[in-house]
Amino acid sequence: MLAEYAVRVEQSGGRRFAEPSHPYRNDFQRDRDRVIHSRAFRRLEAKTQVFTRRYSDHFRNRLTHTIEVAQIARTIALQLGLNGDLVEALALVHDVGHPPFGHAGEKALDSAMRAHGSFFDHNLHALRIVEDFEMRYAAFRGLNLTFEVREGIIKHSHDYDASQFPELAEYLLDQRPPLEAQLIDLADEIAYYTADLDDGYEAHLLRLEDICEGLPVFARFYREAERTYPSVMEKLKFNEALKRLLDHMVGDLIRNIEKRIRNAGIKGLEDVRACRHRLAAFSSAVEKERSETKKFLYANLYFSAALDPEKNDAERVISELFDLWMAHPENLPSSYQEKAKQEPLSRVVCDYIAGMTDNYIYEQYEKYCPKFNVAAGTTEKG
Ligand code: MG
Repeated sequence: MLAEYAVRVEQSGGRRFAEPSHPYRNDFQRDRDRVIHSRAFRRLEAKTQVFTRRYSDHFRNRLTHTIEVAQIARTIALQLGLNGDLVEALALVHDVGHPPFGHAGEKALDSAMRAHGSFFDHNLHALRIVEDFEMRYAAFRGLNLTFEVREGIIKHSHDYDASQFPELAEYLLDQRPPLEAQLIDLADEIAYYTADLDDGYEAHLLRLEDICEGLPVFARFYREAERTYPSVMEKLKFNEALKRLLDHMVGDLIRNIEKRIRNAGIKGLEDVRACRHRLAAFSSAVEKERSETKKFLYANLYFSAALDPEKNDAERVISELFDLWMAHPENLPSSYQEKAKQEPLSRVVCDYIAGMTDNYIYEQYEKYCPKFNVAAGTTEKG
């Protein structure tokens, strides 16, 4: 049963190109399936989330992270009576616009574009992938996704200014996105904070004592786990604490969204869209814990010197290949050389690099950059 403020598939804004309906899958289910069958989705497996394979094959990559976001988002959606099919499609597509090498890759690609008077934004890139780059269907370019999925790709994580992005006008930039899209960003944060604590601890970059000291909320759950399971190994108590932390954040989010819906007098989807603020948010107590967790992970993991070799690789490989293809576009695949007749070369080079997996970009680097310098991060992988 959908809540009155949920998105209803029968009222979807529809697809760019009309298609006959499917006998037993609705349009949002089909969109979810189109994302799963796309090449961009499969490439997530070989894209870094935080840790490269240098550390371990069982740490998260962008694909397993995406699956975790979908699981969390679907749980929240079903509790709130939101459209689970739309939420699942949005969660599965939310990271397809990410370039190789995680956050460092995104930063490097953005700096390369800024030197040419432009920028790189992974949400805008994701929209270009689903609208144009995926070549799968005979009847149209792209995946021909419904309006709500395209809108969610653009609006799930932040608001774009209508005057700065006139090309996005169709996505109702002056309105909030539906709750199905709003909750993706928070499910994403819950997924990666807990996963990064887990992988960081397994990688011996985060110590249990430091996590407990820096994050009182984690310490509380760890003490509970110790009381309940005093004789099990530390990692199992750690897992137990992490599981409780995840549940704590998800439970708070569900209850707080319900409260905000009530307080704002939301009766339908139009009220969600017209509301001045986003309705998906943690309570102030959990928001404080969220921000402590974020600060802790930045200080102790994301900015730790241990991850520098990967960051340096990302910066060097992306910037050198970008410059190489700008100077020698004849080395681009012919389809990209064709595209460069209609669009600025820098955008075409950016699109080409952004689509690559970590593996593929390293191959390109070895092929084209004769001064290939093997850094710590790359040599030890495998
Ligand atoms: Mg994500």
